[in-house]
Amino acid sequence: MSTTSKAKLPPRVTESLINRLTAMVTAGKAGEAREPFEMTETYTGDVVGYLPQSSPEDVVAAVEMARAAQKEWAARPLKDRLAVFERAHELLLTEIETLADLIQIGCGKARRMAIEEVCDTPLVIAQYLKTAAKTLKPKKRSGPMPVITSSTEEHRPKGVVAVIAPWNFPFAISMSDSTPALIAGNGVIMKPDNKTALCTLYGIELLHKAGLPRGLVQVVCGVGPDVGPTLIDNVEFVMFTGSTATGRTIGEQSGRNLIGCSLELGGKNPMIVLDDVNFDEAIPSILFAAFGNAGQICMHIERIYVQERIYDEFLRRFTAAAEELAGKMGASYDFAPEMGSLVSVDHMKRVAAHVDEAREKGATIVTGGNPRPDLGPAFFEPTVLTGVTNDMALATMETFGPVVSIYKYKTDAEAVALANDTPYGLNAAIWTGNFDRATKLAETIESGSININDGFITSYAAKGTPSGGVKQSGVGTRHGAAGLLKYTDTINVGVQKKQIMASRSSMPYEKQLKSTLVTLRLMRRLHLG
Ligand code: NAD
Repeated sequence: MSTTSKAKLPPRVTESLINRLTAMVTAGKAGEAREPFEMTETYTGDVVGYLPQSSPEDVVAAVEMARAAQKEWAARPLKDRLAVFERAHELLLTEIETLADLIQIGCGKARRMAIEEVCDTPLVIAQYLKTAAKTLKPKKRSGPMPVITSSTEEHRPKGVVAVIAPWNFPFAISMSDSTPALIAGNGVIMKPDNKTALCTLYGIELLHKAGLPRGLVQVVCGVGPDVGPTLIDNVEFVMFTGSTATGRTIGEQSGRNLIGCSLELGGKNPMIVLDDVNFDEAIPSILFAAFGNAGQICMHIERIYVQERIYDEFLRRFTAAAEELAGKMGASYDFAPEMGSLVSVDHMKRVAAHVDEAREKGATIVTGGNPRPDLGPAFFEPTVLTGVTNDMALATMETFGPVVSIYKYKTDAEAVALANDTPYGLNAAIWTGNFDRATKLAETIESGSININDGFITSYAAKGTPSGGVKQSGVGTRHGAAGLLKYTDTINVGVQKKQIMASRSSMPYEKQLKSTLVTLRLMRRLHLG
């Protein structure tokens, strides 16, 4: 156990709340007991509490408990399941301050980001309250022979789904990805990151208050490679959000088990700034696109390509804005700081290593480039670089911190080629005064999300539209009808009211062929089938 001091937490987060939440983890029920994980407050490194760790046997037990509760849940009418989420929507908004406290404790983000993070789940709930009945309703399709045959498309829950979440949006990702899985009638096993499990556990407590049956959602905690393989061996679907490297492992195991998976992975997201841009509108938005959540947003911008005619002015104004932001960093549970900490000292060191290597290989650090130990152990300044070349990790690998490289380009075609020159394809952005020009450029950009005159918020908050990564940034999508249907098996129920399709043994096959061809041509002409 650690010798670090005990954290002074915001008053809403009491010791008894932390004990109640950690007791919800499915751990210590079976198998060899694990050492609990020491949770710390990111701002100080002080101890917050101890999180039980699940053994592989605990994971099996968790799936069994969720499976037992799932049968009854799936049998409930959809409107009853939706009523639970109607109540949960209100409870999440009522408890937004405590949820924000717990998010901040675990990952050190600025309060305004924590509040925005909580809002994600009510947005997703509202979307599915509006659309789930239509999406999940059985759909009558025509059969191969009109009138005499019919086919019905049904959507049944898969059973028990694993939702594996990272630390950067720990509440939004675990809760918003579980919401459609539960609405579709599944049980869920959540696997949050150890550092940020408290906010997820409180979210589940609120779902229970809203009427979700106990047992249906289980939380297993542990180191990924310890609990992950057993989890994937025991569920029917995996919803994973995290790095591309881990996503590949999850995808391989899911493939071997012949179960579906949805993978939301990393990015190296580009932005193109055209020469007709309005700086006054663009700069504050681009600042947030690069440095929001201290650059720990999967969709945030790490590469900015600026047309050469406006490059100097852009660099001057953007750098000035980044320096102003550096003065508004801080560790606080109120709304004063605009930018918070990185999640951990280890992560801060990884970010700093990218910057240091670029500096050593000849890049220019226009502003920032240093940790801020005066604010907390894992703070890092908003950093702007130029002269970054492809032999530097910063140019091609996801940095996932408050670090952005600015490049100059001449033609639109060159800008698109540079933006696409990456194995990733999560998010891309274009800033312009001419929407037609931007829409045309967008057609050639290889990315799952493309934002015009915004960094990422517009597509991110459009919960009715499925979104995900292309190339190495993911497989599958979340949100919209697709984000609900992926948690279901599609069943095709065919009915033949009169036996006309069985082989007619009395008729020679040549004759059958003729009648088949006549029928197919007639059906095409009449637009049947
Ligand atoms: P990570 O891949 O290290 O971990 C993500 C989660 O997977 C954690 O809960 C971890 O414990 C678990 N895990 C690790 N190995 C596992 C295994 N073998 N089996 C099962 N689970 C395992 O990612 P991270 O560092 O926590 O998160 C940052 C990454 O997530 C960045 O690359 C970021 O771009 C990405 N991300 C993507 C999206 C998106 O929607 N595309 C959203 C947020 C974050």
